[in-house]
Amino acid sequence: MNKLLETIIENNREWTQKGKVATYIPELSKANPNHLGIAVYTIDNEEFCAGDCNVKFTIQSISKVIALMLALLDNGKEIVFSKVDMEPTADTFNSISSLETRNPNKPLNPMINSGAIVTSSLINGKNGSEVIERLLKFTRKITNNPNIDINYNVYKSEKETGHRNRALAYYMKSIGIIEGDVEEVLDVYFKQCSIEATCKDIAKIGAMLANDGVLPWNGERVIPRQVARIVKTIMLTCGMYDASGEFAVKIGVPGKSGVGGGILVAVPSRMGIGVFGPALDSKGNSIAGWKVLEDISKELDLSIL
Ligand code: GLN
Repeated sequence: MNKLLETIIENNREWTQKGKVATYIPELSKANPNHLGIAVYTIDNEEFCAGDCNVKFTIQSISKVIALMLALLDNGKEIVFSKVDMEPTADTFNSISSLETRNPNKPLNPMINSGAIVTSSLINGKNGSEVIERLLKFTRKITNNPNIDINYNVYKSEKETGHRNRALAYYMKSIGIIEGDVEEVLDVYFKQCSIEATCKDIAKIGAMLANDGVLPWNGERVIPRQVARIVKTIMLTCGMYDASGEFAVKIGVPGKSGVGGGILVAVPSRMGIGVFGPALDSKGNSIAGWKVLEDISKELDLSIL
């Protein structure tokens, strides 16, 4: 397996040259566009990896999956989906117009920024710091990595320049979708996006989801089976923004990308996969990471569809 992963990484390295690292969060522009790595963690506890699988990156939108799990655990699906819908989008991940024109009362899904800001606002905690502590603690548990933490340079950079997210959040406050202090909710959102991880960490989150909410390494159930099912379904239909349909056709498994270059994949009943390549395509997905996933999906016949 390691050999197969190495071959796939080498075959796709040239794709890193065809994308661009994100620059709209200034700190992310410092990423090395040549990086490319993959890790696989099976539900039978085997770990494989190749390429730059030990390089840390900020998980960015992958954190939306973690926030959704906690929001569902804290509130149940009725409350969560009364405030954020579960429909795919054809719009960009930070679209404001879809919020105003499609359904003014509810963001389309929890995987776009507006929806994710709502799910973050639904996580229990007496203030923002308690919420982010719970998010970090949960992330450490589902990655089996006590060292998971926030990259404060990326956090500061996003907080200073996140005007569009601020616009989304204040709009949602004005129409009552967000309750409580908007800046505090945004602070949680910016911090969760700036959580740092490696492909290996991400693969373990995928393995837990693939294993229906049970940590493969110790048998502990961290989320109910139904929550795992909802999260995987929303990843499959909405996880790659306006490229989700194409991802489902070409790769055929639940996935979630982030502008830091990571992609989290859960292959039901088989494995989790984490890939990382910070050079992005025009929709904000890792360009080479996507190609790596296409190859591994073909080689191991991963598509569930
Ligand atoms: N922190 C980023 C933002 O809100 C996350 C977006 C992404 O990863 N697509 O803009």
